[in-house]
Amino acid sequence: MLATLKEVFGFQEFRPNQEAIVSRILAKRDVFAVMPTGGGKSLCYQLPAILLPGATVVISPLISLMKDQVDGARENGISAAFLNSSLESGEKASVYRAFREGRLDLLYIAPERFAIPGFLDTLKGVPISLFAVDEAHCISEWGHDFRPDYLSLSGVTRAFPDVPVAAFTATATLKVQEDIIRRLELRSPYKVRASFNRPNLIYRVHRKEKVERQILRYLEKHPRDPGIIYRTTRESVENLAGILVDRGFRALPYHAGMEAAERQRNQEAFNRDETRIIVATIAFGMGIDKSNVRFVIHADLPKNIESYYQETGRAGRDGEPADCLLFFGRGDYSRIRYFIDKMEDDTERAVAMEKLNRMVGYASHHVCRRRQLLGYFQESYPEDNCRACDVCLHGTKTVDLTTDAQILMSAMARTGQRFGIRHIVEIVTGADTQRIRRMGHNEIKTYGAGSHKDRRHWHLLVDELLAQGLIEQEGARYPVIKITEQGLQVLRGKQGVHGIKREEKQPSTERAQALKRAEETGACDLLLFERLRGLRKDLAQKQGVPPYIIFSDRTLREMACRFPVTPEEMRRIHGVGDRKLDRYGKRFTGEIAAHLGEEGRDAEKTRPAATRSRRTKQT
Ligand code: ADP
Ligand code: ZN
Repeated sequence: MLATLKEVFGFQEFRPNQEAIVSRILAKRDVFAVMPTGGGKSLCYQLPAILLPGATVVISPLISLMKDQVDGARENGISAAFLNSSLESGEKASVYRAFREGRLDLLYIAPERFAIPGFLDTLKGVPISLFAVDEAHCISEWGHDFRPDYLSLSGVTRAFPDVPVAAFTATATLKVQEDIIRRLELRSPYKVRASFNRPNLIYRVHRKEKVERQILRYLEKHPRDPGIIYRTTRESVENLAGILVDRGFRALPYHAGMEAAERQRNQEAFNRDETRIIVATIAFGMGIDKSNVRFVIHADLPKNIESYYQETGRAGRDGEPADCLLFFGRGDYSRIRYFIDKMEDDTERAVAMEKLNRMVGYASHHVCRRRQLLGYFQESYPEDNCRACDVCLHGTKTVDLTTDAQILMSAMARTGQRFGIRHIVEIVTGADTQRIRRMGHNEIKTYGAGSHKDRRHWHLLVDELLAQGLIEQEGARYPVIKITEQGLQVLRGKQGVHGIKREEKQPSTERAQALKRAEETGACDLLLFERLRGLRKDLAQKQGVPPYIIFSDRTLREMACRFPVTPEEMRRIHGVGDRKLDRYGKRFTGEIAAHLGEEGRDAEKTRPAATRSRRTKQT
């Protein structure tokens, strides 16, 4: 197993759970595994596909993903093919032929095929080593991506009693897990529930103010990183993509309102590093296998933590540091609330509300973001400080908001709890508006009681109180704010309120620190890294494959740290197996040697290479 891991994939060691899973499959046992995105699920079935006689059949829901997976496997020298509706009948026939003649190790098949009556019979008579079901949660109606076609997979274990079945997913609560096992009729499977922790993701929440400007600032600080920006509506997607393009960023939109072909093109462009940024609604994502996504920004509040976890999960699959930024503002809460209030089913509405509150809690509580995310999936996080979320990194201060909260609530109580946020804030800050005069609100005791602080302060306080459930919004069109039961305790002085005072600065420093930590083993030459990235892109373009399929960012970074110039040295780099060494080794060692040559000439005259590269890093 280890030899193949090294030779074919170029990896030195297994990731957690991979070895255990592969050895169970080799022993013909069924497997059920929940592993987070980037955990290395594909290797769990690709390795047995090579080692076992016969073909491994992989059921995977997305056509676009299938092609990339097959390209990736072939790059590693595995004989792989796929069968789906995108193929011409001639191509299909030749894939079937290769399969029948035992020339394939790996065959990807779309689930729709299994829904065709008699399809399973066409697979009989060919030695099959394993059925691997990817995105297995699609078989469960409790999951959030249910696909009826997946139900046809339940006949597989009966039709092939001697072939092991392995099911993989990245998102399954315990309930969904049991549902998958039951529906696939797995035979006392070896179960794996890996940690949901993604240590290389850096989570942050920012106050949402002028969100376009906030995003621009972030992008300017990270001028090369590819990333995804999620927005909720088509208009806001188009709008933001337009702004970014106007400012000279390479950005493309993606949403359900676009033509399928254009959407597909934009996704491909992102996959292939031809565009750096994709601005998208949540319609975007399932087909994204790109491993070097360096940031995922949510410009609007997601509806629940499951979605947030899944969407941020698309960052940093290569294990390198990546940012997950959420911009959170009060307006989003009301907007989602508006839709929830319109739900007809009582239970459904209550569940949605509860999920939204958990999401708001995540964004507003002064608790490690990682701990909160893991807690949501019933996993406890043992560390005090994760060192990779804004709460842990900033050591933010807790501030006492009790007096201000009382001023605000008192203004609400004295005006009969019949007014919206803006009006209440105007009373508290002592604004001289016609409405206030007409209502006589300039007469009440709290009028102007908060005028020593600006309106923004009071709006932020409203956010905080809403988030903590001390006040709530009611009414869809003209929402008014009301004091909750718990809020009354504060107004009566029986309970205090605390909030976090967060620094508003951008995360570049921590990101730089995290990168530095990753590079601590050796001074990485960023100029070389960029150069190798350019070479990779050229090669990818010539072959029509996404760049990360040739080498991952991590592989390039290692090259830029260790400067391999001979095949032996190159062979020791992470991600360089025999096949890739053959195909690309020379190009890359050549590039590195050329770089060292130029560098050497300059360096002799100036300062040592290590100092120089560190300087480059900071710019
Ligand atoms: P998943 O499908 O679980 O999201 P992938 O199978 O796409 O994850 O793997 C994510 C990344 O991790 C890929 O770039 C893959 O090459 C890499 N990877 C997988 N296993 C290992 C390993 N044992 N060592 C190093 N990298 C690995
Ligand atoms: Zn933390």
